[in-house]
Amino acid sequence: MNQHPVTLVFATHNEHKAEEIQSILPGYIEVKTLQDLGCYDEIPEEKPDFKGNALQKATYIHEKFGVNCFADDSGLEIDALNGEPGIYSARYAGPKRDSNDNMDLVLKRMQGKSDRKARFKTIIALIMDGKEYFFEGTIDGKIRDQKSGNNGFGYDPIFEPESCGKTFAEMSLEEKNSMSHRSRAIQKMAKFFIDQV
Ligand code: IMP
Repeated sequence: MNQHPVTLVFATHNEHKAEEIQSILPGYIEVKTLQDLGCYDEIPEEKPDFKGNALQKATYIHEKFGVNCFADDSGLEIDALNGEPGIYSARYAGPKRDSNDNMDLVLKRMQGKSDRKARFKTIIALIMDGKEYFFEGTIDGKIRDQKSGNNGFGYDPIFEPESCGKTFAEMSLEEKNSMSHRSRAIQKMAKFFIDQV
């Protein structure tokens, strides 16, 4: 069995995300953060879709430091809004990146719409030994007509996953992680490494 240690740099400044990913990946994979590299750059993400942005972030770190690395990009897609907020999820209502403002704008634009279908999506781009790999996780659901619940972050209070009867913000972190787009994408990357052994 080939279980020699693998070090991967996660191209994010979000330490919480790095811990979450480390807890799911097999133990012989060590996840390092940009802080570990002493990198405090603002990583560019200027592409028109999640996949392009994830790859742009991973490529930036790969080219600058020559390391195996990965990056993720996520957001909420609402059918009745033609896929918005999509790549603009963090700053939908403006540069303040305020979750309440973002949700208020979604609720306003969804007023009177009967099609409430939406999904959260995460794409992870991995650059390993110079090759690119992608892992996608999605969770389907619907947009509520008002906020409900206090847990989580971002759009959690207005997103109800399919057949759940409650929003992400009404779930414990463990319950959300058992079905979230991000954990599904991470699980796929974990399987990729496990299958290589
Ligand atoms: P990121 O690419 O993971 O940083 O996500 C971009 C934006 O999408 C976040 O700032 C949130 O507005 C939204 N988002 C991503 N994942 C979630 C989630 O699990 N719950 C609620 N909002 C999310």
